[in-house]
Amino acid sequence: MSYDCDVIVAGGGPAGSVAAAWLARAGHRVVLFERDRFPRFHIGESLLASVNDVLGAIGADELVREAGFPQKWGATFMTGDGRVERHADFSVAPGVRSPQTWQVPRATFDHLLLRHAAASGVDVRERHRVLDVVFDDDGVTATVQPLDDGQRPQTVRAQAIVDASGRGSLLSRKLDLRIDEPRLANLAVFSHYAGVPRPDGRRAGDIRIVAREDLGWFWLIPISDELMSVGVVLPRTAARALHGIEPGTLLERTIADTPAVATLLASARREWPVRVEKDFSFGSRAYAGDRWVLAGDAGSFLDPVFSTGVAIALESGLEAAQAVADGLAAGDLSVRRFRRFARRQRARYRSFRRFVLGFYTAEFRDLFFAEEPPRRMFRSLITVFAGYWRPTLATRIWVALFFLLVRSVASDLYGHAPPAVPQASATACLDDVDRLYAQLSARAVQPAPGGLEGGALGREWDLWTRRWEEEVARVSARCKLEGDSDPARRQLAAAVEGLEELRRDLSRSGESASAEARQVKDALAQARKLLGLKPR
Ligand SMILES: Cc1cc2nc3c(=O)[nH]c(=O)nc-3n(C[C@H](O)[C@H](O)[C@H](O)COP(=O)(O)OP(=O)(O)OC[C@H]3O[C@@H](n4cnc5c(N)ncnc54)[C@H](O)[C@@H]3O)c2cc1C
Repeated sequence: MSYDCDVIVAGGGPAGSVAAAWLARAGHRVVLFERDRFPRFHIGESLLASVNDVLGAIGADELVREAGFPQKWGATFMTGDGRVERHADFSVAPGVRSPQTWQVPRATFDHLLLRHAAASGVDVRERHRVLDVVFDDDGVTATVQPLDDGQRPQTVRAQAIVDASGRGSLLSRKLDLRIDEPRLANLAVFSHYAGVPRPDGRRAGDIRIVAREDLGWFWLIPISDELMSVGVVLPRTAARALHGIEPGTLLERTIADTPAVATLLASARREWPVRVEKDFSFGSRAYAGDRWVLAGDAGSFLDPVFSTGVAIALESGLEAAQAVADGLAAGDLSVRRFRRFARRQRARYRSFRRFVLGFYTAEFRDLFFAEEPPRRMFRSLITVFAGYWRPTLATRIWVALFFLLVRSVASDLYGHAPPAVPQASATACLDDVDRLYAQLSARAVQPAPGGLEGGALGREWDLWTRRWEEEVARVSARCKLEGDSDPARRQLAAAVEGLEELRRDLSRSGESASAEARQVKDALAQARKLLGLKPR
């Protein structure tokens, strides 16, 4: 069978450039089609710390460092009246390996990554639009339209395709995969301003997120020494009230009625047209199929409040490339090979989604801006804000506790400490952990679904997992096992840690799952013995 290349990549944004660069550096023949000529404008300037890992994996970290983008160490969240400021400094968060990241004018950043892909051996073809893709048993054929010189469409044949076409969503539209997010049908209006004051020192490069009373919010991102990207995002109900107003006037009006932003922009000059984006959030029924994977926005996109877009695009671009390379090596590019990729992509989206949905509720904001949020809990949230959506169990438990509090705390929390939970006895905790193990064992007979077609099954599994994790968090809060020196409680803490591993292993090899299950059972047996109870 003859192919023009091993892999076609559609789209030269962050997801496509990373996927293509990684595959080419691994020795594969890659053709990347990009419909625009770079550099081109793109929204999405604030990066997360997790992108450092991906840039390192494709050898682009030094290039980005040398580009001289403004340094970002975190985010500053402010209430609209400017009274409360929360600094989320990535360097204090557990598990964040390399906390300093960047604010990037995307025209420059994306161009740099695309050139890096070309330098890595990718055949980059700008001004080429992928019109359609057809699959057969042996490969994939793309029809591509060169956009200059009145050329005719060409066909290109490959073994697989990575769709990184952004919100254009080439395959997702063709295969009808999109899941709308009506709760996030928001409107964004933005521009660039000069003359906006910045804090001194390390906070100078922070993104500032300013919450509005109507549950909308502003971003202020320093994208160069002079310019600040400023935008407002309004939920659908708030946007409806401003319907019909010309975007420039809308932006000025929302700046004027958000005191913290009005103060910051008091002497600022607008240096750029006002642009609008709307209805930008959506999920996907599947992230991969036979000979195709979706990376970045081509699969799903989340409201930008936590600046997750480029981080997800880069990480999923890298993982898509690795999954395709594994498939090429195994001579099997069927959907089965991409199960893990798809599962991670869905989980990544859902982990951030719960934060995004939360941010549009008064309860989340009240707790988040409360005078003194428990420090360990706040740091755990920052780990996720830094892009680490799957942190350690301890961090996840703190995050789950935060969401439990959000649910239970009334919106007039300001200034009040969260209610203290009395510590349960070790015997009661043993019962709790035993119950968690029993629930998981019952689930083991119907392990995590791998079939991407089985969207309903996947959703059911995710829902169960979420509930189970909340239950783990509840038990951890009641039992306070972490750091306890009592030997029985230490065994129980080990059992809980093992349970989480076991839950993950259920969807992988049976061998590591049964080894993990043995360890959990041993820890529970030890705890039982230490408490003087009869063995089971
Ligand atoms: C209002 C707003 C604010 C945002 N702010 C942030 C932020 O602060 N931080 C952040 O990380 N993210 C932010 N984002 C999200 C960010 O813009 C995206 O998540 C990110 O650009 C996704 O990268 P990608 O590579 O998947 O897609 P893209 O960057 O969109 O790249 C896709 C590329 O594919 C090309 N293409 C499309 N169709 C075809 C085709 N048929 N053939 C060939 N080429 C094609 C396009 O020209 C484009 O260059 C924001 C988004 C919005 C809407």
